[in-house]
Amino acid sequence: MSKKKSEQLGMNPSTASGRLVKDVLWKLIVEAGQNMCYACSEEMTRETFSVEHKVPWLDSENPVGLYFDLENVAFSHKMCNYSRARKVQRDKTHCPAGHVYDEINTRMTNTKGYKGRECIACRNSRNKERCTAGTKEERQRIRRASYKREKEIKRNLGPLAQ
Ligand SMILES: [Zn+2]
Ligand SMILES: [Zn+2]
Repeated sequence: MSKKKSEQLGMNPSTASGRLVKDVLWKLIVEAGQNMCYACSEEMTRETFSVEHKVPWLDSENPVGLYFDLENVAFSHKMCNYSRARKVQRDKTHCPAGHVYDEINTRMTNTKGYKGRECIACRNSRNKERCTAGTKEERQRIRRASYKREKEIKRNLGPLAQ
């Protein structure tokens, strides 16, 4: 059935359904006169609008609550939404686990042009969990090196690392 739908629609049925929902939503937004950007107050189009959370839900105390709270939802240009989200991320001083973002513990990342920050302490503990490859001696060597790195970071972070 799903194959037949895909063939007749010329696309994945869930892609089609997502597009339809967005078409309907946009029609209602225009009818309700809500087609001005929440962030910059300029007019949006079907192609440029996005659903934005006024109070960011990601890494918050109550992610599910904030995500589904309709009072917390607004419409804004994709680009306005993106740059606001970026600013929120930039203003953060600690990672979700509570490590401080400072010169020693912060690694700049660039994934397909999206620049971000990564907590080195979290990265190291993730790498440690994942490490099951190689011989026993190799694993020991890697573990020791990563343990040393982590100890160095903790020393530099002080009480925040606990
Ligand atoms: Zn805007
Ligand atoms: Zn961290």
